[in-house]
Amino acid sequence: MASNDITAMKQLKERILSDGKCLPGGILKVDNFVNHQMDPVLMQAMAKELVHRFAEHTINKVITIEASGIAPAIMVGNCLNVPVLFAKKKVPSTMENMLTTEVFSFTKNKSYPVCVSSDYLKPGDRVLFIDDFLANGNAALGIIDLVAQAGATLEGMGFLIEKGFQCGGELLRGKGIHVESLAIIDSLEDCTITLR
Ligand code: 5GP
Repeated sequence: MASNDITAMKQLKERILSDGKCLPGGILKVDNFVNHQMDPVLMQAMAKELVHRFAEHTINKVITIEASGIAPAIMVGNCLNVPVLFAKKKVPSTMENMLTTEVFSFTKNKSYPVCVSSDYLKPGDRVLFIDDFLANGNAALGIIDLVAQAGATLEGMGFLIEKGFQCGGELLRGKGIHVESLAIIDSLEDCTITLR
């Protein structure tokens, strides 16, 4: 592992412990460096590390879901020099050749449709999914569906933060998907952040 990787992981873990806040219901708020205010230097270091971890894959596109996945995804796309496609949560009237699926939102506790245009997700595409959090894997399952509908290939899934006490990691790895997470949270019980 390159020194950048160790630094990025260490920095992320330190920021989670210093700036992360636990909300009721097992939600980690990282609004001051990932989800509202963003730290571009840390984001770039994390993107480089994710790229390093998927180095053996051929990737020609990064995919994510709006809105919180866009920042890490565009950094990864920039490192790989490939386009970044974000699945939209509101079905636009102007979208042509639309592929849609349903995603259950962990934080909002409801399902919503997400869509991409098959003009931008095609057979032959080899895609890397990037998101801020992996919880129960519902967003990831939606992307797996869209990639399958498009006839594209999923090369892997990379997350900044995995909540190891939820089932998403096991679900996706159990499907044989190459999953990478930069920080894994073992518990948010009693409003205490426990990192692996
Ligand atoms: P999943 O689809 O894996 O169940 O949940 C992942 C999605 O829900 C991510 O895109 C993320 O935006 C949101 N999410 C899940 N858990 C958390 C959390 O603890 N904190 C924040 N900020 N977002 C979360």
